[in-house]
Amino acid sequence: MKLDARIPAGPLEKKWDLHRFEMKLVNPANKRKHTVIVVGSGLAGASAAASLGELGYRVRCFCFQDSPRRAHSIAAQGGINAAKNYQNDGDSVDRLFYDTIKGGDFRAREANVYRLAQVSVNIIDQCVAQGVPFAREYGGLLSNRSFGGAQVSRTFYARGQTGQQLLLGAYQALERQVAAGTVAMFPRTEMLDLVVVDGQARGIITRDLVSGKVETQLADAVVLATGGYGNVFYLSTNAKGCNVTATFRAWKRGAAFGNPCYTQIHPTCIPVSGDYQSKLTLMSESLRNDGRVWVPKASRDSRAPGEIPESERDYYLERKYPSFGNLSPRDIASRAAKEVCDEGRGVGETGLGVYLDFADAIRRLGEATIRERYGNLFEMYERITGENPYRVPMRIFPAAHYTMGGLWVDYNLMSTIPGLFVLGEANFSDHGANRLGASALMQGLADGYFIIPYTLGDYLATSRPAPVDPAHAEVRATEDAVRQRVTRLLGGDGKRTVDDFHRALGKIMWEHCGMERNADGLRRALREIPALRQEFTSDVRVVGTGEELNQSLEKAGRVADFLEFAELMCRDALHREESCGGHFRVEHQTPDGEAQRDDERFAYVAAWEYAGEGREPVLHKEKLVFENVHLATRSYK
Ligand SMILES: Cc1cc2nc3c(=O)[nH]c(=O)nc-3n(C[C@H](O)[C@H](O)[C@H](O)COP(=O)(O)OP(=O)(O)OC[C@H]3O[C@@H](n4cnc5c(N)ncnc54)[C@H](O)[C@@H]3O)c2cc1C
Repeated sequence: MKLDARIPAGPLEKKWDLHRFEMKLVNPANKRKHTVIVVGSGLAGASAAASLGELGYRVRCFCFQDSPRRAHSIAAQGGINAAKNYQNDGDSVDRLFYDTIKGGDFRAREANVYRLAQVSVNIIDQCVAQGVPFAREYGGLLSNRSFGGAQVSRTFYARGQTGQQLLLGAYQALERQVAAGTVAMFPRTEMLDLVVVDGQARGIITRDLVSGKVETQLADAVVLATGGYGNVFYLSTNAKGCNVTATFRAWKRGAAFGNPCYTQIHPTCIPVSGDYQSKLTLMSESLRNDGRVWVPKASRDSRAPGEIPESERDYYLERKYPSFGNLSPRDIASRAAKEVCDEGRGVGETGLGVYLDFADAIRRLGEATIRERYGNLFEMYERITGENPYRVPMRIFPAAHYTMGGLWVDYNLMSTIPGLFVLGEANFSDHGANRLGASALMQGLADGYFIIPYTLGDYLATSRPAPVDPAHAEVRATEDAVRQRVTRLLGGDGKRTVDDFHRALGKIMWEHCGMERNADGLRRALREIPALRQEFTSDVRVVGTGEELNQSLEKAGRVADFLEFAELMCRDALHREESCGGHFRVEHQTPDGEAQRDDERFAYVAAWEYAGEGREPVLHKEKLVFENVHLATRSYK
């Protein structure tokens, strides 16, 4: 396998414009002769399918939910970044670029990140034109707030429902194309494998989740926008359905997987409350604009928060990182929370929690303003915990949230399999080792609205894919493999539920490949995961049949993939003998406990190639070249 990032020549700020001019176009009359598959209808997939449909391609769009509107993107709360500089507070494309590169701990590609910052401004215009109801100032200008890792206010938002409003915009654009006949939508249809013919991605194998029918879908190119794999930890802030199946299956067909160990642990989630919990809830980072994070100075202080005087509180983020304070990036704020809890200063019954306190902000701004800004988040918190955050501080703790790793893609967002493009959270691209808040929505929409419409055309115009015979041996073999996998999952006669295995895997991953990692723990995980997988094969019980709606079967397939994929994550985490962003190896830290990078040895993207059943995957390295930023130790102090 050869990695070629295909970064265009020319100065950084000109690369995308020059590249767009140099790329080949497909004549409008020829566009309708091309069929394109888009898997996923979240922000990345819906925006891509709508844009490609609008251009005139014949698009087939798939999602496993009953409606594209239920994609996980709908859960995004806080906002979307863009370098509009409406606040006149010093923002620019260059600053957004630099913040993102630094936020990712210098482990992302300069050219991609610069393009992301450039097109961020177009996204806002596009969404406003669609009618997305962003918050506005009294004078009518769009309003902004701050997110972690930035000292400017560049985050556009729609209360605490930004993802929902953006998705409704993209969904409307998608439905317009459905009505126009350019996009065919296939809800409740799961992609279970990728069809590769003569080295090119030529289709997918799907299973109808209602009837169980397995089918082959052929096309000239395939776009995966299938989201992230944070649910490998079992407990995460992701929707329960989020999974790795599409990208993992593509990996097994030859697509390199980039930086699988880079996961984001979000500092502000409602703490775990018990063993039978199946889901965690995020409290948006936007709350840190006004909420102050603290714990008691004394360990095991069991007084109610209101009884602890100011002088006995430790506002540890403000103390340790005076420049960024409560808006320190997520990896740093998460580790700081873990540190104070490890010292015995955590709050709540389990001691695994810290306070996020709005008392100051309520005093300063009044309850009405806080309600206007965060009302739905406060209500959600109260419904889950039974506590009123207007009166007592919220309790929060870090949880698995986002995956920076994903299928490796070049500058055109194409994987190592020609004709397979990967967008949104599913690719590894722009966030390096730590994503800044409000940058995922920006990236998903940049990929879907502004990048794939150009790069896919260039691929089709230059590769001119010939028709594929549905009876081709590769097509038949891939479809057979899917049927066999489904039959195998249903054929077991074990005793344990799928959830039981998933929970056990999550515990291993959280303990050894979570917020902190070390070589011994990772080696242990690499022994425990195959053993658990073995037990899964012999002792899982999947109820029901394959010819009906069967969520036990759906979950079994996804958990089986997680059980293999988890090993790749641990292998990647073990090989990366440095700390960077969300990947914190305890062996590699500065004397004051910050991540210590090793740029000499690890300034590269780790791209793993599948080498066959029972064989160790092969590591390829894409060297990261920094010509426009200076590689510095990240500091938010
Ligand atoms: C609680 C929460 C809050 C967040 N808030 C913010 C925020 O404020 N700002 C921000 O920038 N980011 C935020 N994020 C991150 C952001 O929401 C996601 O990264 C982003 O929405 C992912 O979009 P996507 O289109 O790549 O994938 P998704 O929205 O996850 O969509 C995936 C799509 O793929 C489909 N799919 C998956 N697998 C298959 C398969 N095998 N077959 C068929 N279809 C499949 C699904 O049906 C779905 O349509 C938040 C994340 C969480 C968990």
